[in-house]
Amino acid sequence: MRDFARPRIVSSTCLEFEACRYDGVKITSDEVRQLFPHADFLPVCPEVEIGLGIPRSPIRIVDLEDRRLIQPETGRDLTGAMAGFLKKFLGPLERVGPGGVDGFILKHRSPSCGLRNVKMYAGAERETPAGKGAGLFAAAVLDRFSGLAIEDEERLEDYRIREAFLTRLFTLASFRRTQASGQMKELVRFQTENKLLLMAHGQKHMRVLDSIVANSGKSPVDEVMSSYRDGLEKALAAPPRRASCINVLMHVMGYLKKQLTSRERIFFLAALEDYRNKRVPLSVPVGIMQSHVVRLEESYLKDQTFLEPYPADLVTVRDSGKGR
Ligand code: SF4
Repeated sequence: MRDFARPRIVSSTCLEFEACRYDGVKITSDEVRQLFPHADFLPVCPEVEIGLGIPRSPIRIVDLEDRRLIQPETGRDLTGAMAGFLKKFLGPLERVGPGGVDGFILKHRSPSCGLRNVKMYAGAERETPAGKGAGLFAAAVLDRFSGLAIEDEERLEDYRIREAFLTRLFTLASFRRTQASGQMKELVRFQTENKLLLMAHGQKHMRVLDSIVANSGKSPVDEVMSSYRDGLEKALAAPPRRASCINVLMHVMGYLKKQLTSRERIFFLAALEDYRNKRVPLSVPVGIMQSHVVRLEESYLKDQTFLEPYPADLVTVRDSGKGR
């Protein structure tokens, strides 16, 4: 098993931490709970932070242009208080160093934390929403930390979204550790171990990152690390295409072709076909290939993050299909 860096995740406090929702309820999330042994969480409840009690009467986003946060029952306008909190909380958060963060897991549909599909109203008393978008806290997170792993707990119930999120989260945490080392040799190691993963995310990104590591301009290490970080965030911005993952897995099989029996190859190719036809997640053919790599003690492949991008006990095929 790889030595995984511990991601630091900002999460909505009402997800598994405290009963702080407007109705005094705590939300259960298997996806958040499963990460407890592997990650450090920074839970935050923006509505409690701006002084609202538990329970409280609901708030909503009013005015599609100005996006004001209003509590219809009391008529309070909380927009300024929320803006102050965003500055205070998000301002000091970093991407780098031991105190940096790698991702966010936020509560869906909340007027503060929801990343998408949050109802917005043309007036405080209107019954029908006039539009949808991100809550105020979530919009500021997306604006400032777009390169990080950011999802809501409902979408994480979809295994494909979860696979992409966890891969991004653990890769960024690993790079944060590499960057903190300040050593070029650690950057070279990171690039080598992530070669197949980056290949799956696109040759174009991999070439850019290769040339940053080559450092032909002899730039200082901190500048190289910073450029690499930008390139890595771009590379991981979208999940890898299915066809690219299949190419990478065929490449891995080619690497092992002399050691695998024909029955092992046929079994693997059948799993790859199931993945191509969306019958199983990527982790199924990857898991088969990984077991061969472990058995054969193949030194180059055993360190490739593509074959184990995050801890094995987070691999589940549980799926709601809600993210589609
Ligand atoms: S969704 Fe966000 S603001 Fe609402 S209770 Fe949860 S943490 Fe607090």
